[in-house]
Amino acid sequence: MLYSPITETRPLPKASAAEPAGPLLSVTGLGKRFASGGTIAADALAFTLQDGEMLALLGPSGCGKTTCLRMLGGFEAPDAGQILLHGRDITHSAPEDRGIGFVFQDYALFPHLNVLENVKFGLRRGSRANAERRAREMLELVGLGAFGSRRPHELSGGQQQRVALARTLAIAPPLVLLDEPFSNLDAAMRIETRQDVRNLLKAAGSAAILVTHDQEEAMAVADRIAVMKDGRLVQIGTPDHVYRNPVSEFVASFMGRSNIVEGVAEDRQVHTSFGTLDLSRPAQGSISLSLRPEQILLNADPASSAEIVAREFRGHDQLYWVQDGDRQLVVLSGTGVTFDLGTRVRLRICDCVAPLDPEQAPGCD
Ligand code: ATP
Repeated sequence: MLYSPITETRPLPKASAAEPAGPLLSVTGLGKRFASGGTIAADALAFTLQDGEMLALLGPSGCGKTTCLRMLGGFEAPDAGQILLHGRDITHSAPEDRGIGFVFQDYALFPHLNVLENVKFGLRRGSRANAERRAREMLELVGLGAFGSRRPHELSGGQQQRVALARTLAIAPPLVLLDEPFSNLDAAMRIETRQDVRNLLKAAGSAAILVTHDQEEAMAVADRIAVMKDGRLVQIGTPDHVYRNPVSEFVASFMGRSNIVEGVAEDRQVHTSFGTLDLSRPAQGSISLSLRPEQILLNADPASSAEIVAREFRGHDQLYWVQDGDRQLVVLSGTGVTFDLGTRVRLRICDCVAPLDPEQAPGCD
């Protein structure tokens, strides 16, 4: 860490003192089909965002995350739908008239300007003295108060990221859009910078939408996650809710490792080959379940038909692959007890389990 971390308890004044009630952002029926190739990159996207909230758009490459962000920023024209910012229709407004900040993947800093001049760039409309004061304030906020005279190439990737953020936050936007903001950083710097960025946005009181294909990153920084597939929003909710209650096998496996198991549900219980288990919500008839590796306990049992066939030591814990008849399960276990390959084990589910429901609306928890 190059500077004192900024906590979430240091809010700056909000962008506007008298904002109307209701969500900051309201997106309905947003669609985009590209003429070249005919790809439907966004299909009836709908969600809301509250003031100061941080949403991650998560999904595999090509699912439409960047297209969605670019439509919100005004860099791509939607074919259908509406975007309201504090109730104002900005669907077809020019980017500069939206009052939305955008942090580009490559930071887009001007190489010939120093750090202070880069931050001042967006403040050209006001007085020079005010721009200077605001830019210095922003550099202090991002922990780079002493770096104003440096050129971008004299900074690390993480520091450049913070200059880009300072430049965006200088105009006090109610909403900041970030496209894969950590992709140019190495693994250690990514983890450090993502928390910095979250804290800075929270301190500034700006809401944010962040595009990422990294589920761990989405869970670490976002208040809510919107999972996308093939241009559609398939689930939206808090990281905890989406992880524990994925609606489909796709969401379950995109949000970490998962074992998909079949069962027959009767209200709050489901009958499976592991015995009768409690369900996190009621269901009826044949269902599929998502069992996370940490929801399964292993005990050595020479009489069991299930056998450890592979393992991966990960320091604080280890993963086991267990062959049980014609199915294979992945199980997470602490390092207190170690099972050798070939050990016969009994599997027990230690938690209530979530039924998948691909027909369920993306919803909000
Ligand atoms: P990645 O994580 O790889 O950046 P993404 O989820 O952000 O992917 P988009 O960049 O939004 O996905 O692209 C969605 C789909 O639209 C892809 O199939 C892509 O090839 C297509 N697409 C994007 N931009 C254009 C364009 N300008 N013209 C034609 N097709 C496009």
